[in-house]
Amino acid sequence: MTMKTLNLIIASIMLSVMVNGQNNPLLEKFNTPHQTAPFAEIKNEHFLPAFQESVKQGETEIKKIADNPEPPTFENTIGALENAGRLLGRTAGVFFNLMNAETNDELQQIAQEVSPLLTKFQNDITLNPVLFERVKTVYQQKEKLSLTVEQQTVLEKTYLEFVRKGANLTDEQKVKFREMSAEHSKLSLKFDENVLKETNSYELLVKDKNQLSGLPESVLEAASGKARTKGKEGWLFDISMPSYLPFMKYADNRGLRKELYMAYMSKSFKGNEYDNRENIKKLVNLRLEMANLLGYKNYASYALEQRMAMNPAGVYQLLDDLYEASFNVAKNEKTEVEAFARKSGFNEPVMPWDWSYFSEKLKIEKFDLDDEMLKPYFELSKVIDGVFGLATELYGITFKPNKEIPVYHEEVIPYEVFDADGKFLSVLYADFHPRQGKQGGAWMNDFKGQWKENGVNSRPHITIVMNFTRPTETKPALLTFNEVETFLHEFGHALHGMLANSTYQSVSGTNVYRDFVELPSQIMENWAVEKEFLDRFAVHYQTGEKIPAQLVKKIKDSQNYLAGYLSIRQLSFGYLDMAWHTLEKPFESEVKDFEEQAWEKAQIFPVIDGICMSTQFGHLFSGGYAAGYYGYKWAEVLDADAFSLFKEKGLFNREVAASFRKNILEKGGTEHPMVLYKRFRGHEPTVDALLERSGLK
Ligand SMILES: [Zn+2]
Repeated sequence: MTMKTLNLIIASIMLSVMVNGQNNPLLEKFNTPHQTAPFAEIKNEHFLPAFQESVKQGETEIKKIADNPEPPTFENTIGALENAGRLLGRTAGVFFNLMNAETNDELQQIAQEVSPLLTKFQNDITLNPVLFERVKTVYQQKEKLSLTVEQQTVLEKTYLEFVRKGANLTDEQKVKFREMSAEHSKLSLKFDENVLKETNSYELLVKDKNQLSGLPESVLEAASGKARTKGKEGWLFDISMPSYLPFMKYADNRGLRKELYMAYMSKSFKGNEYDNRENIKKLVNLRLEMANLLGYKNYASYALEQRMAMNPAGVYQLLDDLYEASFNVAKNEKTEVEAFARKSGFNEPVMPWDWSYFSEKLKIEKFDLDDEMLKPYFELSKVIDGVFGLATELYGITFKPNKEIPVYHEEVIPYEVFDADGKFLSVLYADFHPRQGKQGGAWMNDFKGQWKENGVNSRPHITIVMNFTRPTETKPALLTFNEVETFLHEFGHALHGMLANSTYQSVSGTNVYRDFVELPSQIMENWAVEKEFLDRFAVHYQTGEKIPAQLVKKIKDSQNYLAGYLSIRQLSFGYLDMAWHTLEKPFESEVKDFEEQAWEKAQIFPVIDGICMSTQFGHLFSGGYAAGYYGYKWAEVLDADAFSLFKEKGLFNREVAASFRKNILEKGGTEHPMVLYKRFRGHEPTVDALLERSGLK
């Protein structure tokens, strides 16, 4: 951004302050340490006017780029686009982080009003033909422009963002493309609604407690509470996860397990008004047609163009390699569970509705491990030292709490993060415990990204948010092992953000291809089962005793329990996904038949009539995982393969860490992930390390 536009922006800020008749902190310079968000001054009523003003400024900046009388260059077009909308980015950063971590009805209401503003702003950019002409002109000259590698990536990315939304189509095609996009959104929503309706409409009321043997007291309590709120007597179960999963795991009554299983697995496949078969046909055919219009032979080729896997062949290679190693193991595991079932007096074939039940009992027999045994070793304050200490050991970075940095809730801990040479790297907010107004789960995000402008490296503000067990009156916060892994995972994403060192924000930090983004996070989870790492912090909160070696071994072994079955299950979903999205002709057949064929080789149970996965598979048809389901396995392959270098050279090897930092963490999306990965690892990822880690070879 030049000084001239800066002055313009300042002038319009002053204007908006006067228009609103009050100061709006979101539109002023943040006078806080590292210009962090001044939460104490920000009130709900500031958001909407701030969004309106920052969208207006963003639009002015975009218009200036499009209307520039100078011929298009990388700097005046692509570089300028990168720098446009900074104020909007800052406003949105504050708003959407609060929406997730500290929300209320008023913010939700504002979000409804903000959402169309943001969609319009996005469309004004990507659907602007004048702007696209400039981008295209630069793109066509790319060979002659002597751009840096990062600039080439940003140029390609920017150009493709336009093209993939139809910018290169004729006017007539554009109209058609937009109609199809709109229809596609409608159908996806409808798909979701149908599954939700089916989920909500089913209930299983049990009046005789004898039918419910095996279920833990807490599950029974929840079920009777559910019945009471609906004015019914007895125990009410349904097919939402918290009700369904424990029932399948613990209920002794096989008939009821089957009933619940069939209800769960036949969602939107009953021929009623919520049936999704027609929606699937329409969706896959629309996807094919849109991909064809943009010049791709199928939808998967379109979707995978911006993925590390690159194309359908890349995905099938992964699925097949893992399949080869997993299928027989899965069959043997099934035999083992069956033998266990027979030993307990069960003489029928083990069916899917028996699987959780018997495999859970076998697991308890084999491992005798539960959360309560591990929690005393994972006191939160010690885990924080352990996780931060790992980063210090690997990368030399240090963490200093700074109370001067404002926070949005008193429980949030703000840190300044410094590099080995003492230079300031990043702000890190850590928000550990659940409370009203916070979404469930755990995530990393940024309030502010990283970029370089006018020779200044503008450092990021990163946040990690969890929902960890709270301290009680008598005990400090003791984490489950799963929570420790979650901490390491989100902290890994945070490192990707904090160590970012790009010039352009759009390719900085976690702005990478979706099948690459989980590498920095998942690799961190590998340390969680290493005794050498645990010994640094996992000590009993009362006795100070280090976590016993045999407990760590149990954790490792139990993690690999049913590894073959779980692998095959994920692969079957991957095959199904790819089958739907590599169609090259409009789909006219039966959904259930197609599904059966698509994943036949990855099934260890016989086909069951009356159920269907596709009709309820939101990931594929409403959740943005179309031609992307393989990504779960892909990420595991990457993190295991990458971690195997640490295993080989030393868990705390500084050279390997430095290379991971330089080639992966600092680089964000500035180059193709396969190039970055090979530079770190020396070869393309193979499935070997994952197979070894999970005991599949
Ligand atoms: Zn993640």
